[in-house]
Amino acid sequence: MRELSGLTALVTGASRGIGVHIARALAREKMQLALAARSAAELNALAAELSGQGVRAQAFVADVAAPESAAELVERVGRELGPVDLLVNNAGIEQSSAFHETPIADLERMIAINLVAPMRLSRLVLPGMLERRRGHVVCIASLAGKFGPAFQVAYGASKAGTTNLTRVAALEFGGDNIRVNAVLPGGTATEGAKEATEAMKKSGIELKGPMTLPGRIPLGGMGSPDDIAAACLFLVSPAARYITGQCLAVDGGFLVS
Ligand code: NAP
Repeated sequence: MRELSGLTALVTGASRGIGVHIARALAREKMQLALAARSAAELNALAAELSGQGVRAQAFVADVAAPESAAELVERVGRELGPVDLLVNNAGIEQSSAFHETPIADLERMIAINLVAPMRLSRLVLPGMLERRRGHVVCIASLAGKFGPAFQVAYGASKAGTTNLTRVAALEFGGDNIRVNAVLPGGTATEGAKEATEAMKKSGIELKGPMTLPGRIPLGGMGSPDDIAAACLFLVSPAARYITGQCLAVDGGFLVS
């Protein structure tokens, strides 16, 4: 892993959940961490924790869905930590609703955060990666983008876009030594997942059908944010040097069951 040491990683959605665990995993490899989200206090706490371990880590308050904020984020990271060698597009939101009741504004919001923001941030960091002929992008997409679960038309559409973006970028930049991969988490125990489940219950949505059958997840239970972080770390490690354009499901076997 020495190859990662000292390189700069920009992790979005690093204020809680999966993003925090990805940042910790990358910090263990001595990468420099740019931690981005909208919640300053949480980002500062994580930056302090990682700095206490001798890692260079800095909080960057940004709204990745706002074009100016995203541009300023990449510019500031470049100026204060160095050019981005690894972009982890992790920030995301999830809301569920019946297809015909899904407000178009919700669809637009999920597309803006889950799809347009990864596209925009990738566009912002890729020129530097192309110049240096080196770089990685990892998108944290979702199983929902793969099979389109009921009540997740907006979320599923946004994440399907993210996985497609991953494949296209991998094709276009492989020749420049830039690898682009995605991790597709299944149900992962985070604050965000808990809130989404509670909101679903509150709005009276009850999941039915084969998806909910007992034993549907061969390995059982939910994934942990560390499972997703481990997959992300593997994809950016030298062990994965010949892997690009892959969408790695970390789902306890749900997809194949
Ligand atoms: P989470 O606990 O809700 O955390 C989401 C993170 O995204 C937070 O740090 C949040 O920070 C950030 N974020 C949201 N909107 C943002 C914006 N406009 N600008 C900047 N940051 C923003 O979610 P999670 O469960 O860790 O999920 C992380 C990723 O994994 C998401 O892309 C999600 O879709 C995907 N995923 C999760 C699961 C699961 O079961 N947990 C399953 C499949 C896929 P602020 O609010 O501070 O901005």
